[in-house]
Amino acid sequence: MKKYRLLTPGPVPLPPSILKILGAPMWHHRTPQFEKVLRSVHEKLKLTFQTKNPVLILTSTGSGAMEAAIVNTLSPGDEIITVVSGKFGERWSAMAGEFGIKSHDIKVPWGESVDPLSIRDLLIKNPRIRAVLCQVSETSTATVHPIKEIAEIVREHSETLFMVDAITAIGAMDLQMDSWGLDVVVSGSQKAFMLPTGVSFIALSDKAWAANKTSKCPKFYFNLQNELKTQSRGETYFSSSVPHIRALDLSLKQLTGLNLKKSIKRCHKLAEVTRKASEMLGLCVYSKSPSSSVTAIALPSQIDGQKLRDELEKKYHLVLMGGQDQLKGKILRIGHLGYITNEDMLAFFDGLCRSLIKMGHVGANKKVNLAIRKYLLRELR
Ligand SMILES: *Cc1c(COP(=O)(O)O)cnc(C)c1O
Repeated sequence: MKKYRLLTPGPVPLPPSILKILGAPMWHHRTPQFEKVLRSVHEKLKLTFQTKNPVLILTSTGSGAMEAAIVNTLSPGDEIITVVSGKFGERWSAMAGEFGIKSHDIKVPWGESVDPLSIRDLLIKNPRIRAVLCQVSETSTATVHPIKEIAEIVREHSETLFMVDAITAIGAMDLQMDSWGLDVVVSGSQKAFMLPTGVSFIALSDKAWAANKTSKCPKFYFNLQNELKTQSRGETYFSSSVPHIRALDLSLKQLTGLNLKKSIKRCHKLAEVTRKASEMLGLCVYSKSPSSSVTAIALPSQIDGQKLRDELEKKYHLVLMGGQDQLKGKILRIGHLGYITNEDMLAFFDGLCRSLIKMGHVGANKKVNLAIRKYLLRELR
């Protein structure tokens, strides 16, 4: 049996303490013992999301929370703006379309961040716009958007909500829901929360809860009013994913208070050394506005990304993601979330350098490999 190092931007490697809880005997979800855990989780989630409002837990992947955001605040016929700068922006726009909502997509070239002024102009031209939807970190291109600046623009429009997909942002970068004025924030368990896929989170501002009252989109499984009522009394509307939520109680200890600052700092550091070490190998960072939860490295045209990933996986047991659609085979994406140790980073760059030497990349040689190792040992402590 081989030990694989998962360096993907979700799912992420899980620490042994979390794995232990996930394997514990099952509890029923309508019991005092579970209620106590759920209450503790709810309190901590507010600190992680930096909001005073409840953060609701849904049993779904992150996309479920993205859908919940739409169907609980909007109505068929509404107009919205969606920032489309990669796969996840495309998904949110398509989702809204399914519910009869007209999205004015702001198409941003992949790897670039959106210009907040383009949102301002579109909002002024279309006073009917009910919401602006944007990823904080567009995982498919490893790019971050200027969320705080966009929030300031949207806040000037009292009838418009700002909804953010913070699925690879919470825990990896500072995101202040209340003080920045974000109206809907969604996230998912398999990213910085260090859990398996299957649970998602959503928080609404007072303005978004007010919009919820008039929202006419069909909703049954993702009816947030039902969830709010039930979750405030220590239960979930449908059955709870007890293992996820018990493990979440532990992982949130790493994502609250001082530990949240530490977690963010660690992601920044991993992203920074990944960019620097890649440059030492003669590779370029793909994004013009790089994220700290995932880094995309542009591969030289003579390197086939799929072959490189196969080599990394088969020979070095390193699992990484490539690019999708127009970026297929052209980039390598390295995740920085979850239980990633310094040893994982050393093993990754050693494997990457050796694979690139084998594939004939001119920037890779034994000397560079050693220099990178020294650099990583100095920077990561
Ligand atoms: C992972 C991710 C999602 C959610 O994907 P699911 O597969 O539904 O969990 C959404 N947005 C971003 C930016 C993500 O990274």
